[in-house]
Amino acid sequence: TGDAALSINGVPVPVWPNGAFMGWLPVPRDNAPRYDLLAANKTEKARLVLPIKIPPAPDTTNRQKLVGDTLQPVPLPDTLVPVPGNVFVTLGAPASTVNDTDRVTIARPAPGNGQEYKWFLFPGTVVKITGAQKASGDEFVRIELDSGQVAWVLRSELQAQNISPDSLRRFIGDSVAPIRRVGAVSLEPGPDWIDVVIPTTGPPPPYLVEETDRSISLLLYGVTEAPVVSMMPQPTDPYFNSVSSTPELTRVRYAINLNRAPYGYLALWQNGKLTFRVRRPPRIADAASPLRGLTITVDPGHPPAGATGPTGFYEGDGVLQVGLRVRDLLTQRGVNVVMTRTTPDPVDLGLRAIVSRRANAHAFVSIHLNAFPDGVNPFVNNGSLTLYFWPHSIPLAVATQAALLAELGLRDNGAKYQNIAVARGTWMP
Ligand SMILES: [Zn+2]
Repeated sequence: TGDAALSINGVPVPVWPNGAFMGWLPVPRDNAPRYDLLAANKTEKARLVLPIKIPPAPDTTNRQKLVGDTLQPVPLPDTLVPVPGNVFVTLGAPASTVNDTDRVTIARPAPGNGQEYKWFLFPGTVVKITGAQKASGDEFVRIELDSGQVAWVLRSELQAQNISPDSLRRFIGDSVAPIRRVGAVSLEPGPDWIDVVIPTTGPPPPYLVEETDRSISLLLYGVTEAPVVSMMPQPTDPYFNSVSSTPELTRVRYAINLNRAPYGYLALWQNGKLTFRVRRPPRIADAASPLRGLTITVDPGHPPAGATGPTGFYEGDGVLQVGLRVRDLLTQRGVNVVMTRTTPDPVDLGLRAIVSRRANAHAFVSIHLNAFPDGVNPFVNNGSLTLYFWPHSIPLAVATQAALLAELGLRDNGAKYQNIAVARGTWMP
C-alpha cells in the first residue's frame, strides 16, 4: 500500500497512494551490483535485495547479427518471386478471418505489416496473382485489382485450392479473367440508410471507398459496360443528395454526394449485387435529451491480452468497471446500450465490431488503459488519447478527447488515426 516510505540504496524514492513507485538510480559501480530496497511505516519494515544483471557489451564485429537499442539488426530483404502468365485466384480463405457474413480480405499498397489497409475485399473476389514475397515475417502475394492497379494480401487469404501442395510460392488458378458486367444501379432509400444497389455478373469486383467531407467515392475495378448514372433518391432528402457515375474502360467510379459529412457506410455482396449502404446520421428527437433512443456499443477492451501496471492492476479489469459505469450513465440518458462483454471472460477482438454492426449501433466506443514499455517514465508521459480508424469517426473522436481532457485534466495526447483492429469492422463512428 502507499503508506510506507521507501529508500533504494539509501536514496528516498516517492511512493504513490496506490503503492506504485519509481526511482531513477545509477547502477552501482560494483562487481556484484544490487538494489537494496527498504520500505517502512510506523509499525513495519520490509527489505528486498535485487541483484542487477548487466548484459555483456555487444559484439560489433558482425553488424548483420546485432540486436540492441541503438544497433538494430539489418534484416535481409526478401525478393519478389514472380508468378508468370495468367493465374486467377479467389480471396477470402474461411480460416483466415473471423467467421461473419461480411468479413473481408484486407489489401495494402505494399507488402508488410506497417502498410496502409486500403482495400477491404469481399470473400470470393477473383484477382490475378503476379508474385509472392515475404515481408515483416509474413508471406504476402501481389495481386492485380485490374490491369492498372496492384495490391498485396496475406497468402493465408487465398483459398486453399489456389496454393500448390508442393510449394508455398506456386499457385494454381483459372487462366481466364472473370467477366464482370455492371447493370443498372437503383436506390433504395430507408429511414436509417440509403442502399445504392449495383447488379454485377460474375464474382464480386475489387473495390475502393474514399471519403471526403461531403461525399463518398466508390470505385469498382475490372468491370465493363457500366451504364452512366445520375440520380437522386428524392429532391427533399436532407442527407443524401445524389449519385453519379463515370465509367472508364475497365472501371466505374460512383460519386455519392451528401448534404453533410458521411456518418458511415457498409459494402455488402449479396445475390450477385453489390449493395453500398450509406448510413444516415441519427435523428435527434428531443434536443434537451439528445442521446435518447440511440444505440451505443460500449466495448471494455481485453481480455485476451491487455496491459498490467506496476501494482499488478490489469487493464481488462479496470476498463470493465469503467465500461459498466459508462453503461449506467448512458442508460440514464435513454440510450440503448450494447455491451461487448460484462464479465472477465475473453471476447475475440474481431467479434466486438460484429456485435456492434449487427445491433446497428449509432456509435462504437472501445475503452482502454494503455501502458508504456519498460524504460519510459509513466509519471511524466501519461495523458489521454482518443484513436479512430475511419474518417467519419473524426468528429466523435475530437469531441470525446475534449470531454476526456475536461473531466480528467491529464496531458493532451490528441485524437489520432491509428490502424486499430477493433474499429475497422464498424460502419458507425
Ligand atoms: Zn488496451
